[in-house]
Amino acid sequence: MQRESMQYDVVVVGGGPAGLAAGIRLKQLAAEKNTELSVCVLEKGSEIGAHILSGAVVDPRAFDELIPDWKTQGAPIKTLVSEDRFLMLTESRSFRTPEALLPACFKNHGNYVVSLGGVCRWLGQKAEELGVEIYPGFAAAEVLFNENGSVKGVATGDMGIGRDGKPTANHQVGMELHGKYTFFAEGCRGHLGRQLQDRFGLRDGVDPQAYGIGIKELWELEPSRHRPGLVVHTAGWPLDARTYGGSFMYHMEENLVAVGYVVGLAYTNPYLSPFEEFQRYKTHPVIRPFFEGASGFPTAGARLPPAASCRCLSSCSPADASSATTRAFSTPRASKARIPR
Ligand SMILES: Cc1cc2nc3c(=O)[nH]c(=O)nc-3n(C[C@H](O)[C@H](O)[C@H](O)COP(=O)(O)OP(=O)(O)OC[C@H]3O[C@@H](n4cnc5c(N)ncnc54)[C@H](O)[C@@H]3O)c2cc1C
Repeated sequence: MQRESMQYDVVVVGGGPAGLAAGIRLKQLAAEKNTELSVCVLEKGSEIGAHILSGAVVDPRAFDELIPDWKTQGAPIKTLVSEDRFLMLTESRSFRTPEALLPACFKNHGNYVVSLGGVCRWLGQKAEELGVEIYPGFAAAEVLFNENGSVKGVATGDMGIGRDGKPTANHQVGMELHGKYTFFAEGCRGHLGRQLQDRFGLRDGVDPQAYGIGIKELWELEPSRHRPGLVVHTAGWPLDARTYGGSFMYHMEENLVAVGYVVGLAYTNPYLSPFEEFQRYKTHPVIRPFFEGASGFPTAGARLPPAASCRCLSSCSPADASSATTRAFSTPRASKARIPR
């Protein structure tokens, strides 16, 4: 069956922070130049923010540049970092690293603890107010090319395909979205991005990317254990010295805490389970007290962030470091997060 097509000036694939910011900026530039520019954003999640996992500490610099009056426009960016702790853990003890010895990317004063999903929903509203067309629930499944080899746009996948790969009664062919420009903002290791990297040799002559798996849970703490704006990072136990990784714990608003664990995917022990290591981390004497009396069922998910290493710390600013950690495989999974025993 013939696919229908729609023509835009710019087609953006992915409604995360990058895709939404791009849509907003393009519309702002068009307004400044008093010209019409049609922009659409395709987001495979059921709504904007649905696939955004991280409780995050964000540098507000990008918001200052994009929407300078973000505070008065009601951005859900409210909890200033109040304290930074970086702890080296052994099985029973912890050693706090003096601030003077911390690399810049672990100094978070002036940054905010946010729900990145909430920030994306807000950015989505701002984009729509400017006229960006957002299509949630549509995954770009295929890159389309012009005869001269340049990118023509993307096609969404067919719907209503049975397990046997054959069309069912609900079968609907995908839609083609053609753009003068197509902007890929799928996050890290997006499958279209990987096709483009191969086709255009985008990773030729550069260092291979390193990846980690990031697992995050959202807990509601007992109020006396909650410190709004507290940011705790750890390294060391339960990982051994050869395994790259560590934890983060961000105290948000309303007694909520985002706690997570990242393990570099270069680990050599085939029996290592990042999820189990995360659960062990929460039993550490310095971490466990935060969760005592916590109520509610924590929500959990896992994603794949690119792993940074000491190599990049010397050459990038805190803002570069956080924006460089583009997100990957959007496969949040509901899993039973455990209360530490
Ligand atoms: C566990 C964890 C903790 C983190 N903590 C922090 C932190 O504290 N501070 C910080 O600044 N950063 C943090 N990050 C990194 C931050 O999340 C990313 O830098 C940021 O989300 C990257 O934005 P993005 O728009 O490039 O990609 P993403 O946020 O990954 O968004 C991509 C979007 O595109 C959609 N998409 C993908 N493929 C398609 C497709 N084919 N068609 C349609 N839609 C598609 C996805 O559903 C998703 O909504 C963390 C990441 C992880 C995994």
